[in-house]
Order: sequence, then C-alpha cells, then structure tokens
Amino acid sequence: MSQRLKTKTKPKLDFGTAWDYSPAPDSTPIEIASKYKLFINGKFVAAKSRQSFDSINPATDEVLAKVSQANAADVDDAVNAARKALPAWKKLPASERAKYLFRIARRLQERAREFSILETMDGGKPIKESRDFDIPEAAKHFFYYAGWADKLEYASPGQVGKPVGVCGQIIPWNFPLLMAAWKIAPALACGNTVVLKPAETTSLTALRLAEIFQEVGLPDGVVNIITGDGRTGAALAEHKGISKLAFTGSTAVGKQLAKVTAGTGKKLSLELGGKSANIIFADASIDQAVEGIISAIYFNQGHVCCAGSRLFVQESVYEEVLEKLEIRLRSLRIGDPLDKNTDIGAVNSPEQLKTINAYIAQAKKEGAKCHQLKRKLPSKGNWCVPTWFSGVQPAHTIAREEVFGPVLAVMSFRTPEEAIQRANNSAYGLAAGVWTDKGGKILEIASKLEAGVVWCNTYNQFDASSPFGGYKESGFGREGGRQGLLEYLDFGGAR
Ligand code: NAP
Ligand code: MG
Repeated sequence: MSQRLKTKTKPKLDFGTAWDYSPAPDSTPIEIASKYKLFINGKFVAAKSRQSFDSINPATDEVLAKVSQANAADVDDAVNAARKALPAWKKLPASERAKYLFRIARRLQERAREFSILETMDGGKPIKESRDFDIPEAAKHFFYYAGWADKLEYASPGQVGKPVGVCGQIIPWNFPLLMAAWKIAPALACGNTVVLKPAETTSLTALRLAEIFQEVGLPDGVVNIITGDGRTGAALAEHKGISKLAFTGSTAVGKQLAKVTAGTGKKLSLELGGKSANIIFADASIDQAVEGIISAIYFNQGHVCCAGSRLFVQESVYEEVLEKLEIRLRSLRIGDPLDKNTDIGAVNSPEQLKTINAYIAQAKKEGAKCHQLKRKLPSKGNWCVPTWFSGVQPAHTIAREEVFGPVLAVMSFRTPEEAIQRANNSAYGLAAGVWTDKGGKILEIASKLEAGVVWCNTYNQFDASSPFGGYKESGFGREGGRQGLLEYLDFGGAR
C-alpha cells in the first residue's frame, strides 16, 4: 500500500499554525502501510533479522502495521551507512545543509495533517495535541536549526566546533516525532550524520519522516532509522562506529547507558525522567493556576517528562484550589483520541497502564487519599481517568517516583522557604512551575529551584530557541536553542 497521502485540507502557509481538522474521524483518509522496513542508506530495506513486531493503536487495540525489528547486523549496516555519508555531508557548504533542513520543515508543515493523525493513532494522544503541538513544534525545530547551520561560529563564541561524527539517537514514545526532530535537526545542522532508534510502541511517524528525507533528496545515509526494542537501542549504544549518543528516556536506562559509554570516548547526553513541582502561592490568580495544574499533569495523559506531578499549594488556598480543580476536571472529555474535542486520550501501552495502576494502588496502600473522575471508558484500549491524591506525605512513593501517567500528588506548604525546600527534595530536577502575582517572588524562587526549566504563571511552554534539560537524575546536556548545538559539536576538549 502506498504510504503517500492526499491531504484534503490545504495546509496554511503561516509558520507553525495548525490546519483546520475538519473531516469526521471515520472519514479520515490516512493510509498506513501494512509493513514497514528499516530506513538505511536512503532506502527502505528489509531487516536482516527477518523479525517484526506490531505497532498498535492504544485506543482500539487495532494493529496498525508490522514494524521491523533491527538486530545488531542491521544496526551495523545503519552505522556504516552513516559513516560513509559523513565526509560529504560535513564538507557540504553549511548553507546547503540548511536548505535540506528548511525543505524538511516545509514538507512537515505541508503533510502536517497526515502526521498528526498518524501520531494520534499510533500513540494515543488527543488529535488536538498532535495537531497544535507535536507536529508544528517538530517543523519549528527543523526551521530553527536550519537557521543555525551557517552561523555555527556563534554557537560558542571564540571557539570553532567541528561535527562530532556519527550520532546514535534513542528516543521515547511520548512525543515520537517531536523527539526525533529535537535530535535530528541540530545534529544535521552541525554536519553530523545520524542513526535514530524510535520507541517500540511509536515508530510510525519517524518512518514517515524518512519518506520526507527521500522527498527532499537528503543524501543517502545522512539519517538512518532503525526500529526495534531495547536490544536494538543497546546495540546502537554499544556500537564502536558512533561518536555520540543522545538518549531521551527513563533514568534507569540512562544510567545503564552512562556505564556502557564510560571510557569509550563517546560524547553522551541524557534527557531523563522527572517529578516536577508546580507551586501555587495564595496570591496567584487561582482560576489561571487551576488551568495550569491541569495542563501540567494531564497533557498527553501525563506521559510528559516535565509533567507537574507534584502540586504544592499554599495552605490558605489549598481547599479552594482542590475544589476548583475538581469542578474544572469534570468538564474534560476522555475518549477517542481522533475526536477533535477530546482532552484525554489513551495510555500509550498496556505495560504503561499496568505501571500507572500499580502506582495508584501503592499510593492508596501508603495512606494517600485517591480522587478520580468517574467516567465510562471505552471497552477496548488502555485508559486511565485523571487521578489526584491528597493527604500525600513527602515519603510516599507517589511524592517521589515518576508515574508517567495522569496522576497528581497534591501537598500543601506554608512559607516560600518551605515550598523551595520541598520542591528541591527530589532525586530529579527537570522542571518546575511557580504561580504568583508578585514579580519579585518569581525571580527569587526561580533562582532557588533546582530545575532545568522554571515556568512562571504558565506550564509546558516550549520553543525551539529555548534550551531544555535537567539537573540531578533528570540527566545532563541541553536540547533546543544555541545550547542544543553544543551537544553536536566537538571542541577538542576545550569547552
Ligand atoms: P525507556 O524505557 O528508557 O526507553 C527509551 C528508549 O530507549 C526507547 O527507544 C527504548 O526502546 C530504548 N531502550 C530501552 N532499553 C534500552 C537499553 N537497554 N539500551 C538502549 N536503549 C534502550 O523510556 P520510555 O518508557 O520509552 O520513556 C519514558 C521515560 O522517558 C520517562 O522516564 C520520561 O521522563 C523520559 N523522558 C524524558 C524526556 C526529557 O527530555 N528529559 C523527554 C521525554 C521522556 P523500547 O521502546 O523498544 O523499549
Ligand atoms: Mg502504537
């Protein structure tokens, strides 16, 4: 079956604007190939392993496609293709490299509708999120780094970096295309070549991105996409032919990869988990803060590394915030992710649902009070209603460990000092939110929070020009912005 798709709705030309999602879900004219091959050296090729696995729609349990399982020999082919492509790609005038990135960005915009639907079907997220966030943001990253390709001398003033070489990139399933863009765009802008491994449950948009690479004539081997499970990722990480490993995923796997790459000379960046604090002061606009709490934890079913999963509310407004939160949550729509009015889609996989449910059970067992929206859920697929716990103690598992689902731990505090101390009392340090009416308080608190990103009176705002990354067990290295380039340039140890 052809992988191409005719878009019925003419894409708007303005940068990053969403198209109008008008057709009814059942008339959605998207075609998905029944079997996907690996993308190596500019071509879709059968896996040497001859093995495949199913990519499943988590909202319906339907098998969308068979995806190839790359083994060590396939990984070897992909790395060799990237090595072969490297000399010509890095010698290409930077302005020419930029043109490829611009073309990729434009094609992504033009095919945005198709990519959004596929992302939603494969991963379970609401179509309004893929349409308004994932796909436009992915395109923006290619535009942004296209602009940098011929200005790299400004990435690290006073020093000229060289491309690192072949980059192995491993990404998770929560923002599949966007994570691919975060990784591929800066790597290519800097003159590197890439082997990317998407997550097992959400490989389809990365493979479709490979079609765009073919469409724009990206030289063979500059980007290779190998699908598979953790074994494929491990083979890539261990491969001697890569000079850099960029990993986004769990802290547990990140720690393993730090060991695997130690002493090999490979450059490493780790974007790992989080347990981010969202702090609401009594002087905040409470209605606005309630919207922020919801977006912080329930966006993408809570499958967000920087999710505001620990909510700290100042004691005097604690009851008011919880009351308003519950009322507002009642208006959320849960169900068919392809329905443009859906707010909460499907949990990405049965395994992740099991993990989430185990955390909910554990929190109850440890004595926290469970609140859940009462909803009739679809009979098929993986579903979890928005859940929040009150009566949470700092020692409770729900206050410490990442759930990666729509589960919020609510706690109260009295003073700003206590809020800072409790927010920082975490193994993680990815993000934080601060809600207050007082500008001076924002700066003071933000400067004391151990978090890579601090949002003030908002949450989950991203921009290609803003660096993103963590402290502590949330990893190291930054993605996005000028800092994102530094991960893909070699300064000969001088930086
Ligand atoms: P994961 O289990 O660590 O998997 C991430 C990727 O690594 C997947 O492609 C996975 O393949 C692969 N992998 C698994 N075992 C591996 C191994 N031993 N060696 C090499 N690769 C291996 O994480 P996840 O469950 O997909 O994603 C959720 C986690 O990612 C959360 O902790 C979240 O906070 C974090 N995350 C962080 C950021 C950030 O920017 N800081 C952004 C998004 C997500 P399979 O899919 O086949 O298992
Ligand atoms: Mg899937």
